Amino acid sequence: MQDIIVAANALITTFKELKELSEKADNVKLKTHILTMNEQILNMKEIGLEYRDENITLKEEIKRLTSFEGRELKLKNRAYYDKDNHGPYCPNCYDNDRQLILMAQTGVIFRYQCRKCEYGIK
Ligand SMILES: [Zn+2]
Repeated sequence: MQDIIVAANALITTFKELKELSEKADNVKLKTHILTMNEQILNMKEIGLEYRDENITLKEEIKRLTSFEGRELKLKNRAYYDKDNHGPYCPNCYDNDRQLILMAQTGVIFRYQCRKCEYGIK
């Protein structure tokens, strides 16, 4: 996915060329639209920056909420359980990414399966 700020900067570059052409055209209505468009593009870029910052914060929060953070885990039946016996948490996600992903009870091929990586235990 292309970064929204990179896309906005490309739009601004094209817009500047359009603005130069409008100045040569000597058309008041066109210049007014160009100025309005300039404000709209800058506003859009500002919103994009806010979304990007919020997205970074949310990703960090998800990682924190699903990470180890002091939980006492024990390995039982090829999956992790916490000290209150909550689980099973996916051993594949925990061992590779330090993320605690609660496995879903499926009862089909596997007894439990990870919702993220689809690792299964029987
Ligand atoms: Zn997993």
